[in-house]
Amino acid sequence: MNTTVRNLVLVLGDQLNEDATALDDFDPGQDAIWMAEVDQESTHVKSSKQRTTVFLSAMRHFAAQLRANAWPLMYSELDDPHNSGHLAGELHKAIAQCRPQRLVMTAPGDWRVLQSLRQVAHEHDLPLEIRDDQHFFSTVRAFTEHAAQRKQLRLEFFYRELRQKTGVLMEGRQPVGGQWNFDTENRGSFGKQGPGQVPAPSRFAPDEITQGVIDLVQRRFADHPGSLDHFGWPVTRAQALEALSGFIAHRLPQFGLYQDAMWEGEAWLYHSHLACALNLKLLNPREVVAAAQEALAQGHAPLPAVEGFVRQILGWREYVRGIYWTHMPHYQDLNAMHAHAELPAFYWTGDTDMACLRDAIGQTLAHGYAHHIQRLMVTGLYALLLGVEPQQVHAWYLSVYVDAVEWVELPNTLGMSQFADGGLMASKPYIASGKYIERMSNHCQGCRFKPALSTGVDACPFTTLYWHYLDKHADVLAKNPRMLMQLKNLNRLSAEQRAAIAVQAQALGVSSDDAALQAKSS
Ligand SMILES: Cc1cc2nc3c(=O)[nH]c(=O)nc-3n(C[C@H](O)[C@H](O)[C@H](O)COP(=O)(O)OP(=O)(O)OC[C@H]3O[C@@H](n4cnc5c(N)ncnc54)[C@H](O)[C@@H]3O)c2cc1C
Ligand code: SF4
Repeated sequence: MNTTVRNLVLVLGDQLNEDATALDDFDPGQDAIWMAEVDQESTHVKSSKQRTTVFLSAMRHFAAQLRANAWPLMYSELDDPHNSGHLAGELHKAIAQCRPQRLVMTAPGDWRVLQSLRQVAHEHDLPLEIRDDQHFFSTVRAFTEHAAQRKQLRLEFFYRELRQKTGVLMEGRQPVGGQWNFDTENRGSFGKQGPGQVPAPSRFAPDEITQGVIDLVQRRFADHPGSLDHFGWPVTRAQALEALSGFIAHRLPQFGLYQDAMWEGEAWLYHSHLACALNLKLLNPREVVAAAQEALAQGHAPLPAVEGFVRQILGWREYVRGIYWTHMPHYQDLNAMHAHAELPAFYWTGDTDMACLRDAIGQTLAHGYAHHIQRLMVTGLYALLLGVEPQQVHAWYLSVYVDAVEWVELPNTLGMSQFADGGLMASKPYIASGKYIERMSNHCQGCRFKPALSTGVDACPFTTLYWHYLDKHADVLAKNPRMLMQLKNLNRLSAEQRAAIAVQAQALGVSSDDAALQAKSS
């Protein structure tokens, strides 16, 4: 292609939908599409092999579809000998080649990428038109308006507003079933008998395109985390639709009840595993929510399960996106709890005696997947209690999960999981001792530690660090009424117990300053 085009439409690796607004007025006679595989997107954090494979394979399948439509496409492959290795470099080359009158794109999911593409447009003195992403129910503008009316942001208010605006699970102005929220019915564990026979998840054997990407990733990113022995993610819209109907048919009815439950060796349970397909735009959240509502209407799934699922997509997914785009770029640097410890090396290997962490990290490295409670109350909780620097925790989550795109990963990690935004996103730190993990899973049964113990050789590190965290941050936490019960329990510990916990916490890796401070104050 060496002519002048009208619009050069930029399509990123997480924008793989033909109904994208950027393509609304696409005219193959005078426009062209630009896509680029670049090293930088796999190395700015060391992206896991599963994650890189999902993105590259889905991009190549989407490119094949565009070519089948005979739509003009400029596509840089990772192994092209002249690939510059970064998006800006590839875009510069494409602009020089096709001399577009303007650049058009759907709003991207990453602040860093947006800045770099804007800079390229600026350098070429080209207009860059950014269109709303219709793969969300709401817009960042609507979130900003919502936020402007409140002193404090809370998911619940935003979620209710969106239910009313969209009519999802509504009867007139009232929520279906007379209740907005069925959280209390959605906290079941499996009990001693375990989950039994869990329906098999929808997995897809690699086709020729995916196999080519697997070979490429094994070669180019051999030292990146994780393995590709079990790759089975949907990488086309047809596969994503199949995964959606598999979830609705086999897992949704139990989704609510077992949303928070964990079980050793059971990676998939009753979750949807759809985040990756949603974030790559292979699925539209509207069709996902509509399918869940239809299951309710048909009597196939109960209301608490359907509401619990809808809340994640219509609620959390939209809410975190609003937080990200209204608080970047400073959000990524927040560290409200002054946490400076290093991320333990076992996060990259799973090599630890702590059974819960070993299981969650093991499946993460094998599949690029862990469900929400594993992320929040196992890997996230341990990092929070240990006082790991939130930016290191963020880099880990962005690296390892197939569904990791910064707009969704960053607020979940820094805000919800690490409380690094000081309560902007969540009303209190999500902290618990090993007793929580014991209640929600069977991990503790096979662990060399005891969740009830906070000191001694058998003490559960979560429990030690939990008390130490409460003690260390007691002054700050006491300002939050939702923390008072936990602080009251802390006050039942003697000065000697607290001092012993501080010493044990130091041995686990909290910074020595923290432990010394603690020992002094007790
Ligand atoms: C520390 C941390 C990091 C996370 N990083 C990511 C990430 O990089 N990408 C990502 O999509 N989700 C992230 N989440 C949210 C959530 O854990 C995942 O969306 C979910 O585990 C994906 O599995 P699933 O598709 O089986 O979800 P399900 O449990 O089946 O939930 C259904 C859908 O709801 C949406 N959803 C659920 N919870 C959230 C949430 N808290 N925020 C936004 N959407 C949500 C997802 O699209 C998900 O597919 C993170 C959570 C935590 C605590
Ligand atoms: S005892 Fe502690 S470390 Fe072991 S599995 Fe239970 S919570 Fe995890």
